[in-house]
Amino acid sequence: MLNLKDPSLLRQQAYIDGQWCDAEGGATVDVRNPATGEKIGTVPHMGAQETRRAIEAANAAWPAWRKKTAKERAAILRKWSDLMLENADDLAVLMTVEQGKPLAESKGEIGYAASFFEWFGEQAKRADGDVIPSPWPDRRIVVTKEPIGVCAAITPWNFPSAMITRKVAPALAAGCPIVLKPSELTPYSAFALAVLGERAGVPRGVFSIVTGDAQAIGGEMTGNPTVRKMSFTGSTAVGRLLMQQCAPTVKKISLELGGNAAFIVFDDADLDAAVEGAIASKYRNAGQTCVCANRLYVQDGVYDDFARRLVAKVQALKVGNGLEPGVSQGPLINAKAVEKVEDHLADALSKGAQVAVGGQRHALGHSFFQPTVLTGVTSDMKVAREETFGPLAPLFRFRTEEEVIGMVNNTEFGLASYFYSRDIGRVWRIAEAIETGMVGVNTGLISNELAPFGGVKQSGLGREGSKYGMDDYLVIKYICMGGI
Ligand code: ADP
Repeated sequence: MLNLKDPSLLRQQAYIDGQWCDAEGGATVDVRNPATGEKIGTVPHMGAQETRRAIEAANAAWPAWRKKTAKERAAILRKWSDLMLENADDLAVLMTVEQGKPLAESKGEIGYAASFFEWFGEQAKRADGDVIPSPWPDRRIVVTKEPIGVCAAITPWNFPSAMITRKVAPALAAGCPIVLKPSELTPYSAFALAVLGERAGVPRGVFSIVTGDAQAIGGEMTGNPTVRKMSFTGSTAVGRLLMQQCAPTVKKISLELGGNAAFIVFDDADLDAAVEGAIASKYRNAGQTCVCANRLYVQDGVYDDFARRLVAKVQALKVGNGLEPGVSQGPLINAKAVEKVEDHLADALSKGAQVAVGGQRHALGHSFFQPTVLTGVTSDMKVAREETFGPLAPLFRFRTEEEVIGMVNNTEFGLASYFYSRDIGRVWRIAEAIETGMVGVNTGLISNELAPFGGVKQSGLGREGSKYGMDDYLVIKYICMGGI
């Protein structure tokens, strides 16, 4: 049904200890295309037992993997990255079919995802330690960095490839094996990665994938003492739960959780650039990214002008099946996602907001929703506090810097924020006053493999990507060398 150049990239089995396998009882769940509702195939419905098997295989594979030189691990990761780029067309089709995003965005994500293998392979060679001047004449202080051990990862559906490589690449680079549970909504992008990993020379057991019952798999990953590190990207509610479940075995954890990103436009902003940034930040992936602009604050003097220009651009967005050329917004992931957008919209309208454009399900049906702009939005509405995760841009009006900083920081989240201003003093003041892990100044796109991605407050712990991203998979060892 799918037109792939290399049909062997579509696998419908999980991957444990280098073997493609079904669930022990043979149970499966269907995977559907969100643009058409059609069944693409099935995915094994596994649980704790299969997860335990993958963890044991990882533990068995660990000694040989950590023994490889950094250069050897880097060569495998580099090959994996190259294979992803060589197969980018097929990987993008798989992604669009299971996730919905436009093909061009899928292709962009494959490049982004592959870049983590390339970058962390290079970083593997730079896991430097230290020699610290000693307070004793007969002893030396040496610090080394070692792989933490067996890692486990749980990833979401919004970036079916990049959220995986952002965890798997630093784990493998550091010398750790990893067991992954991708989202059951988008498993085929994950399985295709395993096909290519095998071709790149990743040894059996070093990278395994289990799919199925999230609670049972998550329970085993967090409860099993062999697992030394858990990395999760998803909702804050599940992140809190996993953190709690990791407590009894004191695992190291990385969490990339919800955001509630503010996008601020000051009176002195370059308005065209701000509109362009807002479109990129808000409507990319149909508004389903954790760094999406969720709240747009526009200063009084430019509010009407900004709204007018934004609406004109939004009207030009083409909604459709992501496989069709020229489409800029695909469907939302499922009916639940559409209901959340509708709920936020209804709440805002009941409290006095107005629809400037969109505001309804799209005529294409399924989970398509019109790109929407709301004006007259106020802080008592749900959109001010909760992540909408859809193509809804609520425009709040503000007057002063102090007022907007108060509103922007009034949230338990602290992942990303954006603002547009050309005043250098204001740029520094605002960048320093905003309580988020990432700040985009005069840009709506900030993610890349070289920069530290992560949040503060209840948006998470740890950083992914960048030189800091390796630390999450390493432990420090202090060796005191005496007898000198
Ligand atoms: P989203 O709203 O983005 O789907 P979730 O946090 O529900 O966010 O899902 C992110 C990932 O977490 C998915 O792979 C999902 O299957 C998994 N997940 C959901 N609930 C649990 C749970 N109780 N334990 C472990 N993993 C879970």
